Amino acid sequence: MKTARTDSWGRLKQVDRTREDLNIPFTPRTQKTVLPFGNGRSYGDSCHNDEGILIDSRARNAVLSFDTYLGVLRAESGILLHDILNVLSGSGWFLPVLPGTRFLTLGGAIANDIHGKNHEHRGTFGCHVRSFNLARSDRPDVQCSPQDNSELFAATIGGMGLTGIILDAEIQLVRVPSHYVLETRTAFKSMRGFMELANESNAEYAVAWVDSLAKGSKFGRGIFIKGEHVPFDGEFSYATPKVSIPFTPPFPLVSGLPLKLFNTAYNFAKSGQKNSELANPNSFFFPLDAIGKWNRLYGPKGLFQHQCVIPDDGAEQILERLLATAQNAGQGSFLTVLKKFGSVKSAGLMSFPKPGFTLTLDFANRGKATRDLLEELDRIVLSVGGRTNPYKDARMSAKTFQAGFPNWEQLEAMRDPAMMSDFWRRATGIKHVNAPSLDADWRETQLTKSLNQNLRKQS
Ligand SMILES: Cc1cc2nc3c(=O)[nH]c(=O)nc-3n(C[C@H](O)[C@H](O)[C@H](O)COP(=O)(O)OP(=O)(O)OC[C@H]3O[C@@H](n4cnc5c(N)ncnc54)[C@H](O)[C@@H]3O)c2cc1C
Repeated sequence: MKTARTDSWGRLKQVDRTREDLNIPFTPRTQKTVLPFGNGRSYGDSCHNDEGILIDSRARNAVLSFDTYLGVLRAESGILLHDILNVLSGSGWFLPVLPGTRFLTLGGAIANDIHGKNHEHRGTFGCHVRSFNLARSDRPDVQCSPQDNSELFAATIGGMGLTGIILDAEIQLVRVPSHYVLETRTAFKSMRGFMELANESNAEYAVAWVDSLAKGSKFGRGIFIKGEHVPFDGEFSYATPKVSIPFTPPFPLVSGLPLKLFNTAYNFAKSGQKNSELANPNSFFFPLDAIGKWNRLYGPKGLFQHQCVIPDDGAEQILERLLATAQNAGQGSFLTVLKKFGSVKSAGLMSFPKPGFTLTLDFANRGKATRDLLEELDRIVLSVGGRTNPYKDARMSAKTFQAGFPNWEQLEAMRDPAMMSDFWRRATGIKHVNAPSLDADWRETQLTKSLNQNLRKQS
C-alpha cells in the first residue's frame, strides 16, 4: 500500500491518496472500502474514495489475445486505449468508440460507458463489450456477458467501478480501411446552423467546437467537424506527447484575454470556409492529447467540466440558453464541444447518453461563482428532461443526480459492499457502508483471495 498524489483530471482536490496496485499481492491492513482506479481521466470525484483505498489497475495491462480474423481483442483492464490502438495499427481493425483522449484504461472506458464522436452510429463503448471477468468481495470471480450474469454485466457498464473490479475484458472491434480520416470542417454562424449540419450529417464521426465568447450576431458560431475513415498505406504510431505543461501557473491561463485571443485567432478564423483534408488519427480524434498535462493551464484550483445531454425537442433554444447563462455569468468556457447522440441503446444500466444533444463546457474553478453557475446549468438541464454527466462531475447535488438517473437504486442494489466512491457518497447520500465482507480481516476476504489468485495465474 502506498500513499501518492492521485488526482482526477479536474485537479479540484489535490491530495495524496492511498493506493494498492492491482498487480502486486493484495494485503490491505485496514477494513476500509475500496474503489478501482484507471488513469484518472474522469474530471471529478467518481474515481476517488478518500475515506478508503484506490486499487490501481494500470500495471495489469497485457493484451491476452487478438483474433485478427474476427476482430476480437481480449486485454487486461489496466491497458490504455493508446496501447490498444498501437496494437491495432495496420491491422484493418479499430476501436468502435473513442473519447477525446486515448490515455484512459479499458476498465475506465467500460466503467463509465464512454461515448465518442460516432454515438449516432455505434452507441457507447459498452455496446461493443462481449464479456469481462469481475472480481468481487462477496463471491468468486464472475464472468459477465449479455448472456451470462446479464444484470451484473449491465450494472458494471457505466457502473463507475461500484460493482467490482473488472480484471479483463473482451471487445468487438470494427473494420476500417485505415486509422486515417478524411476530415471536413464547416463553419456555422448560429445554433440553428449547427442543428442543420448535425441533422444532415450521416458521416461516421461528427463534433462541433463552439466559440463560447462570441456575442451579438456571432453568438452560437463554431466549427462543425466530420470525418470518415479512408484507405491509407502504412501503420500509424500513436506516440506520447512531446510537449507537456511543466508546472501549474499561479492563475488560470484559459480565461479572460488568453481565451479571447484563442477563440478569435485559432478556432474560428476559417469562418465561412468548407474544407476537407486527410487527418492522422491523433489530430482528428485526440487534438487535446498533443500537449501533456494541459489541465495545469487551469491554475492551482483546477477546473470543472459540465456535460449535459438534452432532448431533441427545442434543442436549439435550450443550447442557446445554456451558452447565454455561462456568458452572462462572465465565465468563458475554453473548450465548448457539441455532439449529437443517437438512439442506439446503451448496454449499461446507468449510461449517460440518451437521444438528443450533448454540450460540454470547461470552467476554471473560481469557487462559489463557478459552483453557482454549474447549479444554474443543472437546473436548466433538469427542467427540460436532460441530465448531467456524473463522471465529469465533482459537485452536483443528490437531487440533480437522482432525477437524471432514476435507476441509481438498481445500481446500489448490485454495488459490491466493499466498493465506494466520493461521488456515490455525495450523490446518493449513503454514508453508512453495510459491508459484511469488511467485517473479516481484509487478508481473508474473497476479493483479496481473488485478486491474488489472478496474480498467480499471470506469472
Ligand atoms: C481530454 C479528455 C477528453 C475526454 N473525452 C471524453 C469523451 O469524448 N467521451 C467520454 O465519454 N469521456 C471523455 N472523457 C472522460 C474519460 O474518457 C472517462 O472519464 C474515462 O472513463 C476515464 O477512464 P480512466 O481509465 O482514466 O479511469 P478513471 O477516471 O481512473 O476511473 C473511471 C471510473 O472507472 C472505474 N474503474 C477504473 N478501472 C476499473 C476497473 N478495472 N474495474 C472497474 N471499474 C474501474 C473507476 O472506479 C471510476 O469510477 C475525456 C477525458 C479527458 C481528460
